[in-house]
Formats: sequence, C-alpha cells, structure tokens
Amino acid sequence: MKFSALRILREGLTGNKGWMPHWRNPDPKPSYDAIIIGGGGHGLSTAYYLAKNHGVTNVAVLEKGWLGSGNIGRNTTIIRANYFLPGNSEFYSHSLKLWENLEQELNYNVMLSQRGILSLLHSDGQFDTAARRGNSMLVQGDDARLVYLDELREMAPYLDFEQSRFPIKGAPTASNAAHSRHYCTPVASKQTSASCDMVSLTTCL
Ligand SMILES: Cc1cc2nc3c(=O)[nH]c(=O)nc-3n(C[C@H](O)[C@H](O)[C@H](O)COP(=O)(O)OP(=O)(O)OC[C@H]3O[C@@H](n4cnc5c(N)ncnc54)[C@H](O)[C@@H]3O)c2cc1C
Repeated sequence: MKFSALRILREGLTGNKGWMPHWRNPDPKPSYDAIIIGGGGHGLSTAYYLAKNHGVTNVAVLEKGWLGSGNIGRNTTIIRANYFLPGNSEFYSHSLKLWENLEQELNYNVMLSQRGILSLLHSDGQFDTAARRGNSMLVQGDDARLVYLDELREMAPYLDFEQSRFPIKGAPTASNAAHSRHYCTPVASKQTSASCDMVSLTTCL
C-alpha cells in the first residue's frame, strides 16, 4: 500500500474506508529457512533486513501476542548513538544511520525528527560521566557536546533552574539524536509481511 499526501486527503474525505491491512494472516508453512521468535523491533527488523539485504524471504516471525506488543510499543522513542562500550557503540551508530533513510525506503512517514536531545545533569559526578561518554562518542564518529549552564539557560529557558532539589548543572547533547512515532512496528511489519509470514501464536495454537 502506497502512502501520499493525496491519498491521506482522499481517505480523510471518504471516511478512511480504503486503507488495507498492513500484513497478511497466512497459515504456517511446513518449513522455513529462518524462524524468528518475537515480533518486536529486533524480530521485525531482522526479518526485514534478511529479505532486503540477503534475499532470504522464506521466513516466519512467531509472535505470542500481537506485533509490537513488547517493549517496542511502549518505549520513550529516543533514537541516539550514546552507548560507549565497544561493539555496542558501533551497533547504535549504524542503527541511527539506518533510521535516517527509513522514510524514503519505506514510503512511510515514521515521523523521525532529529531535533537533538538534552539530558539534564544534576551533580558534578554526572557531569564527569557525561564528559567521558561524550568523548568516546566523538571518537566513534558520533556527535556529542556538553552544554554548560549559561548556554542551557538560553536553549531551554522554561526549565526550573532555581529549584534546589535537583540543581541543573548542564546537559550533554547530540544534534543527530531523534525521536519517532512508536518505532513504527507497523511499518516494519508492512514491509516484512510482503516477503515473509507473520504468524501469531495466539491464532494458530
Ligand atoms: C519504558 C521503556 C522505555 C524505553 N526507551 C527507549 C528509548 O527511548 N530508546 C531506545 O532505543 N530504547 C528504549 N527502550 C528499549 C527498547 O524498547 C528495547 O530495547 C526494544 O524494544 C527491544 O526490542 P525487542 O524486539 O528485543 O523486544 P520487544 O519489543 O519486547 O519484542 C519482543 C517480542 O517477543 C514476543 N515474545 C516473547 N517471548 C516469545 C515467545 N516465546 N514466543 C513468541 N513471541 C515471544 C513478545 O510478545 C514481544 O512482542 C525502552 C524500553 C522500555 C521498556
């Protein structure tokens, strides 16, 4: 199913009756080349990239609830590369770059907004930790910067700088950090469903 501004306008004016289900509801086949347990973010994206990058399309995703019913459907939707352990760091950097082209790739508005992020720091210890993490992010090729109090007051004047319980000391920021709508599990499932079977265990058991 294709999405466009014109389509949204037409559906809006005609009672939204023309939208099709995003995924098929197939009977399980006797065998698959790959079976993925769990239709969350990891399971769906594994199925999607198996098909897209490796041509493996005889795949089933087994989900015990409904697609996106796990953590992926209730998280904070922050997308960023700020994990500084070796291996982990590269994984998040790469993931962030995958997000940057996802809307064009899927022809779907995932509402990715790379507006940056400010995480407030309330102690000198937190400040030191943020500096260490920021340095390793820079080494990794990701964006990171420490915002000091004067600049933070200008950037976010609505924050309560006067309260004493959690004094605000500054904030690390990353300009490419983003958020999206709930990780677009439906998008992944829409694309994945075209090439593999989504099998809900609740309906086939
Ligand atoms: C409150 C909260 C906030 C978060 N905020 C962020 C954030 O801002 N940014 C960020 O990057 N990450 C965040 N996370 C973490 C992120 O949501 C998870 O890392 C991510 O959802 C994990 O994806 P997953 O596919 O491994 O697991 P899930 O999305 O939980 O999917 C697992 C799926 O497997 C199914 N399942 C489990 N067992 C079986 C079985 N035996 N058979 C069949 N199906 C099974 C479940 O029903 C579920 O649908 C947050 C998490 C939480 C809980």
